[in-house]
Order: sequence, then structure tokens, then C-alpha cells
Amino acid sequence: MDEIRMVDLRGQYEKISEEIDLAIKEVLLSTSFINGPVVEEFTTSLKNYMGVKHVIPCANGTDALQVALMASGLQPGDEVITADFTFVATAETIALLGLSPKLVDVHPGNFTIDPVEIEKAITGKTKAIIPVHLYGQCAQMEEIISIARKHNLVVIEDSAQAMGADYIFKNGNRKKAGSLGNIGCTSFFPSKNLGAYGDAGAIFTNDDKLAEKLRYIVNHGMKVRYYHDYVGVNSRLDSIQAAVLKIKLNYLDSYNLARQKAAIAYDNAFSAEKRLTIPERVPWSNHIFHQYTLKTNGIDRDLLIKKLQHKSIPAMIYYPVPLHKQKAYTSIAYAEENFSTSNDLCNSVISLPIHTELTQEQIDYISQNLLEIIQKI
Ligand SMILES: *Cc1c(COP(=O)(O)O)cnc(C)c1O
Repeated sequence: MDEIRMVDLRGQYEKISEEIDLAIKEVLLSTSFINGPVVEEFTTSLKNYMGVKHVIPCANGTDALQVALMASGLQPGDEVITADFTFVATAETIALLGLSPKLVDVHPGNFTIDPVEIEKAITGKTKAIIPVHLYGQCAQMEEIISIARKHNLVVIEDSAQAMGADYIFKNGNRKKAGSLGNIGCTSFFPSKNLGAYGDAGAIFTNDDKLAEKLRYIVNHGMKVRYYHDYVGVNSRLDSIQAAVLKIKLNYLDSYNLARQKAAIAYDNAFSAEKRLTIPERVPWSNHIFHQYTLKTNGIDRDLLIKKLQHKSIPAMIYYPVPLHKQKAYTSIAYAEENFSTSNDLCNSVISLPIHTELTQEQIDYISQNLLEIIQKI
């Protein structure tokens, strides 16, 4: 059996190496490293895949969030609501722009931002909501969008972990995660479901005016060359990454399917074990398993991880500390009791290896060992 990794980017590359090598070589020979034709080609393919009017490629997912906030016309001190239990990028970009992050708790079942908590956190200063589609499953977008309409708020989706996931409307219609809010942001960090071979990201919108502004902002706020109408940034998708992504986009659905299959196999192994809670599947989204994250109940999680390591099984904690407890964000006053779910999750979740190359043999090995270890601790 091959070594088990949290993600196996090498195995994935080897299967498509001929195509990839050729595409990279083409960029090298063209010397169009920035804004080469392949950037436009990838952008068009991605637009079709996402079913959105505009795709603005950029340098990474964090930039996508920052640029989205910059384009939303917010003023210093305006409040932006986001989840307490997520990767830091969302809160970070809010704070960086002099806006005020309002962290709210997540739902105890599906771990995405809780619309009830969003509504409670709204004040006269609230201007935007950033829901995060955590682990590959959508937040409750219809509820969130209806709250946003009622209070005239901008919705910026963080779909960095949900590339290719479907939001399923109550009437059965489907749209891609990242295409529902005023703006959607994603990341092509190598380990994401659609991963580049370096940093990359994209911004989505159906709003022509916003698209125009987003395009200027990623390019130094430039409308006409050397005429700067906005304060902007330099955030480009480079041609080599676009060439890789253009090829990998063709495989994204099959990659997500492979992750879903692995997740079902894990589910079957763990569903009868009371000290583990398998990932909930919500009716409003499919789950593309950027992470396969179990909740442990009454187990010494550190000991479990150590014992898994002894069996050469890697495991990770996404995320060990809620955002409201991070040093950088402690200046904001919070009531601890408002974060009961996020605090609990940080102490109990564990993510197992999940990727496109995981074999049944590896899944069986991981599952059997995990269950055996739990019996003994
Ligand atoms: C990965 C990630 C980001 C940031 O993406 P980068 O491309 O690494 O900047 C933002 N939000 C979430 C939820 C992520 O998982």
C-alpha cells in the first residue's frame, strides 16, 4: 500500500502529466507569462462551468476576498458579518481594510454560518455578510440572501472550499457555489478541489457594474493605462497557473466524485460508532468534501491523532482555535457564550485524508485502525 497523505498531488499530477507538461511548455515558449491568451481561455471555460456572467481571475483566494470587499463601497468602521469557525482569510481581509469583523457562531449540525445568528448580529452599521461554504458544502444561501435583502447588505460568498459544489434551491434548481451572492470568491491553492501549481484565485459576479470595478481593482485601479480611478492592488493570475487550471477544470467533476466516493466509504465505516459523528449532508447543497471532518464525542482527540500517526495515518484539525480567540482579533469584545458551537467544534473535530487518489485499500486501512484505536482509548 502506498504511503497515506492528507492530499496526493503527485499521484494526481502523474495521471495528467502529458497534458500539463505540454501546456506549461507552450507558455514557456510563448514567454507570455502575464496575461497570456491562456488566461482568457481559462476564464471563459470557468465562466461557462460556473454559469456566471463574469469571472475575474486573481492571484489567490485571499486577494479575491479583499478585492470583493474593496469593490463593495464599504467605509472604515462598517461591519461585516462572517463565521467564527473558518480559515482566517475572511476576517483578515475585513480587518485589513479598516472594516469591523462581526464573528458569529456556526450551526452545530453542518458547521456553516447560522442564519439565525447572522440576524441577531445585524446593527445599523452592518453592510455585508461573508458566508463560507465550509469543507465543501454550501452555507444556507437562500436564508442568508433574504436576510441581506431585508437589511440591504452585500453578500460575498467564500467558496474557496467548494469549487464545483451545487447549491440546491427549495424549488429544486441548482446553481454553483460562488454564483449566488453579489460576489463569489474562490481559491485555487494547490490542495483545493481545483488546485493550481502555485497560488491562484478568482472572483465571480453577475453584476456588470461590479465586474467592471473588480477588474479595475485587481489591476491597480486602472481604467485606461496609467489612469487610476480607484485605489487598487496588483493581483493577477499568471499564465502558467491558468494553463494548469484550464486542464484541471476538465477533471473537476470527476475529482469531486472521487472525493464523494471516499466519503461514502468512510461514512459506512463510522456510522455505527457512537463516539464519532459523520459529516451531515444538508438538503440545500451537495457535498464535495474538500475535507472529510468527523466530530469526536468524549474521546481524547490528541491521543487519537498520536495513535493514528503511529499507524502512518495523517489527520488534521481544521480548525483548532476559533477566530474570536485568535490573538490578532482579541481586541474585539465578544461574549464567550455566543460561540458555544464553534468552541465545541475546535475541541472535537478531526479531518481524515481525502483526495482524488485515495484507494479502497487505504480507506479500509484508515477506517479499521481508527475504529480499533477508539475501542482502546
Ligand atoms: C483557502 C481558503 C482561503 C484563502 O485562499 P488562498 O488562495 O490561500 O489565499 C479563503 N477562505 C477559505 C475558507 C479557504 O479555505
